[in-house]
Amino acid sequence: MEQDIQTIFRSQKENSSRLAQMSVKERLERVERIDNYLKDENNLSKLYNALYNDLRKPEVEVIATEVGIVQTQISHLKKNLNKWDRDHRVSTPLPLLGTRSYIRYEPKGVVLILSPWNFPLNLSLVPLVYAIAAGNAVVLKPSEISSHTSAYIKKMIGELFRWDEVAVVEGDVSVATRLLEMPFNHIFFTGSPRVGKIVMGKAAEHLSSVTLELGGKSPAIIDETANIQQIARRLAWAKSVNCGQTCVTPDYVIIHESKKREFIKEFRSAITELYNRSGSGTENSPDYCRIISKYHFMRLNSLYKDALEKGASLLTGGYFEEDDLFISPTLLDGISEEMSIMQEEIFGPLLPVLTYHDRLEVSEIISRHPNPLMLYIASREKKNIRYFMDGNPAGGTVINDYMLGYSNPNLPFGGVNNSGIGKSLGFHCFMEFSNKRSVIHRKWGSLDMIYPPYNSRVLWL
Ligand code: NAD
Repeated sequence: MEQDIQTIFRSQKENSSRLAQMSVKERLERVERIDNYLKDENNLSKLYNALYNDLRKPEVEVIATEVGIVQTQISHLKKNLNKWDRDHRVSTPLPLLGTRSYIRYEPKGVVLILSPWNFPLNLSLVPLVYAIAAGNAVVLKPSEISSHTSAYIKKMIGELFRWDEVAVVEGDVSVATRLLEMPFNHIFFTGSPRVGKIVMGKAAEHLSSVTLELGGKSPAIIDETANIQQIARRLAWAKSVNCGQTCVTPDYVIIHESKKREFIKEFRSAITELYNRSGSGTENSPDYCRIISKYHFMRLNSLYKDALEKGASLLTGGYFEEDDLFISPTLLDGISEEMSIMQEEIFGPLLPVLTYHDRLEVSEIISRHPNPLMLYIASREKKNIRYFMDGNPAGGTVINDYMLGYSNPNLPFGGVNNSGIGKSLGFHCFMEFSNKRSVIHRKWGSLDMIYPPYNSRVLWL
């Protein structure tokens, strides 16, 4: 029987104090259920099908960018949860002599996770395992756009958990809107800045805390000292994985003008080497994904056309096949700011190439846009790396590579302002789902000496 949103929320609320009492062992046992489910060959092959149907994702990418990432986070939790969950002693100032102070991380209560379609398993289950590990009850709404994977997640969670503990609610904007009416203790949202603002507005009505994992235009700076052959190959891969539909994919390149020609040549040959070795075209590569939907295909197509109409020129790619939702990795030159491609996050395999002469120009270009999720720097010159980092705020930075921002659980992952609020991964994600309760425990002594009557007291505080 399908429960309605209010019933789920009420039952989870009632259940939340029981969940808060769970030991670390019990929490980890729950997280391991997910791990074991994903290790089962039969379940895995159904997941391959779901992700193939949604994005034509190759099996290697399902493991590398979806299942593997969830499993890495689960292993990290298994190693660290005991340590994180302990009371954290802090030092005691002299006036509080006789007391002990500590911070206790405790579950926030009932939390909502809203996830996007681009890595539909990973971006649903990673926050989920941290929410469970922190002791919360969880309602998860995966994206309606990656419908096959969402159905898979619903079935999986339905088999592994009671719905008054973890429930998956499928549906579109109308369902998300109804969920956002409920007074969740925390909302963890991954998606666009546009919807992030709606989520934050709704959260404000209940003063629910939020984590917003958003997107934006992440620039890739390439200076005159970079190893162009190496960096072009890495960038060609990063822009093509998941068909460029990745929040951390480089959105546009700003390259030193002296290196542009070499970069274009190396980018082209890297695409051929990665996806067209047989010579039958990237569209026939089994390793290349598709655009998620007709809507996003048309959106990308109009960004491309708008750029060409306003004076951009095609350097490589530019092949669009609507019936197959295929877009080839595409490099564009002659880019100007008024083009739509420079006004919004591209989220697809189109890559504008801009050039600079003096490094001062780089910040001028980047600062026309809100703070990005990632800032990529390719350079062998320490001073330049420092200069570009200091002058350009971003959620994270990867130097001389791409994409890796979401792979080290010891680092916080997330944006800044328009690209996000709050951090995920590792301890930072555990914290998002935990309330930091401060506790002062008196063991002996008292504050008697500052109680009234005050006459003749020497105040030593
Ligand atoms: P989206 O914002 O359209 O949707 C995300 C979720 O919000 C979905 O579950 C959707 O059903 C729900 N939603 C959509 N409209 C809503 C509304 N009006 N009210 C309430 N909920 C609503 O994002 P998307 O298209 O699924 O994903 C692409 C975006 O996500 C890009 O901007 C990308 O950069 C970003 N993203 C960020 C990260 C990150 O970790 N920072 C990861 C992946 C994607």
